[in-house]
Amino acid sequence: MMVLDDLEVNGEEGSNMEIEVKNKDENEITFIIRDAEVPLVNAIRRIAMMEVPKLAIEDVNIVQNDSAMFNEVLAHRLGLTPIVSDIAAIEGLNLADECDCEDYCPSCSVSFTLNKTGPGIVYSKDLSSTDSTIKSVYDTIPLLKLKNDENVELEAVAKIGFGKDHAKWMPTTVCSYKQYPKITFNEDKEVDYGCAEACPRGILKADKRSKKIKVQNLENCSMCKSCFRASENGYIDVGFEPNNFIFRIETDGAMPPEEVLLKACEILGEKADKFIKFSKE
Ligand SMILES: [Zn+2]
Repeated sequence: MMVLDDLEVNGEEGSNMEIEVKNKDENEITFIIRDAEVPLVNAIRRIAMMEVPKLAIEDVNIVQNDSAMFNEVLAHRLGLTPIVSDIAAIEGLNLADECDCEDYCPSCSVSFTLNKTGPGIVYSKDLSSTDSTIKSVYDTIPLLKLKNDENVELEAVAKIGFGKDHAKWMPTTVCSYKQYPKITFNEDKEVDYGCAEACPRGILKADKRSKKIKVQNLENCSMCKSCFRASENGYIDVGFEPNNFIFRIETDGAMPPEEVLLKACEILGEKADKFIKFSKE
């Protein structure tokens, strides 16, 4: 990472990149990156989505399924059920490809069993895990419905994988950035209050007392340019700051967003290290 910071792009001065957290909760983080370039920000976005390891159910052995749901659909649902995958939980777990075992073993997988008789709805909490820390993130995801005396019995095996192979291994449900919006007013023209009403996100507020249009929560601007189109005299213009970004990561709960970011940066760092090693040799 440090090496990337020091790189000069297009002959410009090395950047003084700064990062500031805007919002953060359990499953979501929004932060602002200043003085960065698109290729770097986009590399982090792509790695966060595609190359950060996560657990998901990969093999399902169905012993019995009397429900109306097809086995394939049930297996697909189990695959998409978020499984706890934070760094502490999956530490030491091998990748299935790199494990010595034939198919799967406790060093490269976590097994779940499900055994339920109807009537009733089977929820994700009914999956019982062989590992006390690794379980379904949410208890109340409905998996299937059983009628009177119908039975379901299966074993599901979760393995570590990557978003580039299947969406179920993507740790992020949202991972996106946009350039920082920039709204400018042409002070030479007459104030056009109509353009404030055109904003679908209510960012612009006409203040007739001070004869101005006030901008509230600029970061929420989607740069749709509705205000620009509504303005007849070109009073308002919407652009963006090319080197400042608003980055948002939301996860499915399997791992905290800051861990996704940390892991993505580590992976990017490893790639940079390979270039450094190659250059030195
Ligand atoms: Zn194994």
